[in-house]
Amino acid sequence: MAILEVNNLKAYYVTHTFGRSSTVRAVDGVSFQVNKNEIYGIAGESGCGKSTLLKAISGLVKPPLQILDGEVGYNFDDERLDILSLRDDRKRRKLRGARISLIPQGSMSVLNPVRRVRKAFEDVIYAHLDVSEKEFEELVSRHLLALGLDWTVMHTYPHQLSGGMRQRITIALSTILRPDIIFADEPTTALDVVVQRGVVQLIKKIKEEQQNTLIMVTHDMSIHANLCDRLAVMYAGEIVEEGDVQSIFSAPKHPYTTMLLDSLPKVGDSSARVSAPGAPPSLVDPPEGCRFHPRCPHVMERCRVESPVLNGLGNGHRVACFLQEGGK
Ligand code: SF4
Repeated sequence: MAILEVNNLKAYYVTHTFGRSSTVRAVDGVSFQVNKNEIYGIAGESGCGKSTLLKAISGLVKPPLQILDGEVGYNFDDERLDILSLRDDRKRRKLRGARISLIPQGSMSVLNPVRRVRKAFEDVIYAHLDVSEKEFEELVSRHLLALGLDWTVMHTYPHQLSGGMRQRITIALSTILRPDIIFADEPTTALDVVVQRGVVQLIKKIKEEQQNTLIMVTHDMSIHANLCDRLAVMYAGEIVEEGDVQSIFSAPKHPYTTMLLDSLPKVGDSSARVSAPGAPPSLVDPPEGCRFHPRCPHVMERCRVESPVLNGLGNGHRVACFLQEGGK
């Protein structure tokens, strides 16, 4: 059963400076579904719209970001909610944290540098639960213990902790209310490889213990390979390929996915990796036709004028590329 349904979502940054308007089409007609209890990955280069997509589906829409079109529906056991039509800010805040929760990029954007860690837990818990101080302390210490953290971190300031420890606390904050869905936005950014591994394992452990749904956004394909059940690959504001992780990694169908995978290091292969030529296009004025055509080694005439749509290939694999229509 789908816990999240996104249909034709268009989220643009619209700015007006010195009488000139500019529109960045960061998420442009994206549709997908996420099933209950699965780990759904969203991959792609920086600037392809991954983080904006997370903001839009978690209802964190503030100017200059605007939703131009589309639906974002949550199917919880007891109710269906369309987050974009929730006009009441209090209802949105109640939904976030308790039912959907975000592990953001960079722990310092969550933890206030001049407040002890305990204050951050108080803000989250007292906003959603009516508990006594004793109940608060029991709840937090149980959760910290389950994540391998000690109660003493509650008395520290963020600068007294390592980057890895701060990220663990951010994860603890995001999951203490046992949300139905966790969104993780590049949760391993700026961490060294060993700490990254620990953070990914921690997220996996929480997901297994709390039985929630996880949406993992990262450019790091190795995290997707190790963690996710299904994967969506984004390019220039659109999903270009979606399917189960095994089939995407073993037989990618979109030339962009192939390029991403070819750039990864491989065990036993010491030859130089090939990086994707060129750079992602500006989303203010994306190319006509297939947005990947200026970088595609298989470009055809029709690719320059027609936009491919995401077509199913069977087994839940979907690809937006004319090559799948026989290359005509
Ligand atoms: Fe390349 Fe054309 Fe496929 Fe786009 S539609 S990825 S340009 S072959």
